Amino acid sequence: MKTTLPKLKKKAQDKFNAWIRNRDRELGCISCGNPIDHAGHYFSSGHYSALTMDEMNVHAQCLRCNNFLHGNLIKYRMGLISRYGEDYVNELEGKSINAVKKWSRQELEEIILKYK
Ligand SMILES: [Zn+2]
Repeated sequence: MKTTLPKLKKKAQDKFNAWIRNRDRELGCISCGNPIDHAGHYFSSGHYSALTMDEMNVHAQCLRCNNFLHGNLIKYRMGLISRYGEDYVNELEGKSINAVKKWSRQELEEIILKYK
């Protein structure tokens, strides 16, 4: 039986998030520098579905910033600038225009392979 699209999307997001946490492990939370717990989105998954598995839009965060401070986005933006520079943030913010899409089965399978 074929995996349903929502299950495939969850699997892809889980693999991607694990890859992000590993990438940023030594760097700490993008917003505050504390040890990391989660992969946190700058532009939210719900409103910017095209950026939900974009390496530029997702960085490791601590539990406090990700959950209790709802992403701690002002500090997140400052963290992006200090880590990557102003141009990076401008590019990411440019990508957020029209960033809604439906993920296809094939795209999700590619993500799962890429970030396994
Ligand atoms: Zn934090």
